Amino acid sequence: MTTATPASPSHPFVARTASTLATLRESGQLKSLQMIEGPMDATIRIRGYGDVACFCSNNYLGLANHPAVVEAAIEGIRRYGAGTASVRFICGTFDCHERLERRIAEFYGLEASYTFTSCWNANEAIFPTLCEPGDMMISDELNHASIIDGIRLATTIKKGLLRTVYRHNDLAALREKLVETRQNKEVTGQIWVITDGVFSMEGDIANLPEMRKLCDEFGAYLVVDDSHGTGVMGATGRGTHEHWNMPGRSIDFVTGTLGKALGGGAGGYIAGSKAGIELLLQRGRPTLFSNALPCTIACSADKAIEIVMREPDRVATLRSNVAYARETIRNVGFEVLNSPTAICPIIVHDTAKAIAMSRRLLELGAFVIGFGYPVVPEGHARLRVQISAAHTKAHLDRLGEGLRVLRREFA
Ligand SMILES: *Cc1c(COP(=O)(O)O)cnc(C)c1O
Repeated sequence: MTTATPASPSHPFVARTASTLATLRESGQLKSLQMIEGPMDATIRIRGYGDVACFCSNNYLGLANHPAVVEAAIEGIRRYGAGTASVRFICGTFDCHERLERRIAEFYGLEASYTFTSCWNANEAIFPTLCEPGDMMISDELNHASIIDGIRLATTIKKGLLRTVYRHNDLAALREKLVETRQNKEVTGQIWVITDGVFSMEGDIANLPEMRKLCDEFGAYLVVDDSHGTGVMGATGRGTHEHWNMPGRSIDFVTGTLGKALGGGAGGYIAGSKAGIELLLQRGRPTLFSNALPCTIACSADKAIEIVMREPDRVATLRSNVAYARETIRNVGFEVLNSPTAICPIIVHDTAKAIAMSRRLLELGAFVIGFGYPVVPEGHARLRVQISAAHTKAHLDRLGEGLRVLRREFA
């Protein structure tokens, strides 16, 4: 029997890891995890801080601890047990998966959908499965890390599958890439234009109507990851396309998460054409080699989407909370991007400062996370305030008071 050699200073890993962690610690950039001692809601209990108002969850519609959502999960585990103990194509698909996938397709007005254990996983499935050598994938430079990695994975698996990146939200730059692509002799297949609906760090949105026009002009497919837009954007929370008054079918493939507005548990999905979803079932490596979404979540997410579809008022409440929060942040004297999304980034530039401000706010009873490098580029550190329909005016005012203190203490 062999055993692993004990770590010794002579292993390269030991010294370099100690050095990386020491650098982070010394520069005030070391992250620490807060322990939450109860459910996610407008206020949460954090170990060492007590009850604080939460402004850094993606619990946009306040469904994470909704009694009917929780009850659906409990019923799910009672009815189906803990899980399938199998991948879906062998013996791992319950009727609750089928129900949820029909619901997701209906929610978008698209033909079909397929679920995954995360949207990260969905993005790792869609590009390597649907794209082929001779295709070109054109991606916004600020797309979510899971899109970037999914695209990289696709080009690694399939030689001759091409990728390029355009300047963030820049339609002229996208057009230029499309023109170059058309002239590129190596591109013999499908062109794919890939974007976030709502960009998670900036809180800005993709100009989907103009992107659709460009895609039509160049015969390209449009893929939108609307993880931060779903449940938030548009009059009934269908997503960024609804904000632009576009029907769901104007997007070729949507990817999204069940781990944000739609219940907040975990899980992701791809929605689109029947043929595309069928191909994912037949050929997707995550679909063939990885377990199904747990049925607790299949049931709770289905309930969450049902609630969003039945109670569009939640989306309206979120919208008025967002307007009030932006006004509050501005009144305090901070600059915040003007956008219709529920993400309000306050740019403070320096990573260590963002982390120190976040810690101070927590003491003041408002939980807002500070983001720095490498989540955002060096020099663009920020406090990211996220608003929920679960917040009351009192919660939003508590945020305002906390920010006022920061304004004094961090001139
Ligand atoms: C949050 C997010 C994801 C990851 O979703 P998970 O389901 O947590 O893996 C993917 N894409 C975008 C755009 C996101 O904002």
